[in-house]
Amino acid sequence: MILSARINTYGQDLLRRHGERVHKIALDAGFTCPNRDGTKGRGGCSFCNNISFSPDADTRLGLAAQIAKARRAIARRTRARKFIAYFQAYTNTYAKVEALEALYLEALKEPDMVGLAVGTRPDCVSSEVLDLLDRYRDQGLEVWLELGLQSSFDKTLERVNRGHTFAEYRTTALAARQRGIAVCTHLIVGLPGETEEHCHATLDAVLETGVDGLKLHPLHIVKHTLLAHQWRKGEYAPLSREGYIAMAANLIERTPENIVYHRVTATASRDVLLAPAWCAEKWSLLNGIEIKLRKRGARQGTRAGTPFVNEELNHVA
Ligand code: SF4
Repeated sequence: MILSARINTYGQDLLRRHGERVHKIALDAGFTCPNRDGTKGRGGCSFCNNISFSPDADTRLGLAAQIAKARRAIARRTRARKFIAYFQAYTNTYAKVEALEALYLEALKEPDMVGLAVGTRPDCVSSEVLDLLDRYRDQGLEVWLELGLQSSFDKTLERVNRGHTFAEYRTTALAARQRGIAVCTHLIVGLPGETEEHCHATLDAVLETGVDGLKLHPLHIVKHTLLAHQWRKGEYAPLSREGYIAMAANLIERTPENIVYHRVTATASRDVLLAPAWCAEKWSLLNGIEIKLRKRGARQGTRAGTPFVNEELNHVA
């Protein structure tokens, strides 16, 4: 399977631009989230159990120790010698800018760190934070602002208790890109009440706003979430594996080639995952997406700029 033959993957993009493999190190800097502590809301997004998003990071360790541990683990698997500090867990801009600067610098002072990726909510990015990220970019570092949008439909955002709107996402994405900061937007496929048409409308809205990277994520049900409760009561049914693969392939085909896919699926560890079971099998899913595109003779951008039509009706794949 050569996914990068069909998709503009972040790994290949880094390889092209840095001339060698660069690996992301997921970090937990001990942030919280305004959608949990009452500032924006309580209880968080209905699907959120942050352990499922960043299982490798260990908040009991300081940042330097987390980086050292990840570096050792990566060395066993790849030959990457350069890294990007990925502030992943919870809302990584949720602090005063001085505190953020101290944390980001702690990671960036590592000699093999070539950049920074900051995952956050669209309504939690002040102009001071953007200025700070812009300064790192000016220094030649690789800088990504990763914005969790999930859907462009405010009705859906409300339904899953996101606590922000699409307009807030748009304002932040525009402000970041105006400064030249690369934006990677996270989208979830299979949200309650949404069909495939909603996912394509969200993709169109994100493309129209302007974006540099995307992450696709099938909605999975993990322990200790409101979604788990809704699923148990029969109020939510997850996507099938084949359904996700077809939908991901359709979204990828409609994405212009220049946009970098940082991820086309996501997995959860078996100890927190309730359903669907296929969400624990990352490589099988990636294979499935690659095979789907290959059988169609398609790749990222094949149908960019065209309206969405359900390809499963047109292809025998
Ligand atoms: S998904 Fe992100 S914004 Fe939502 S509750 Fe979890 S950490 Fe907060």
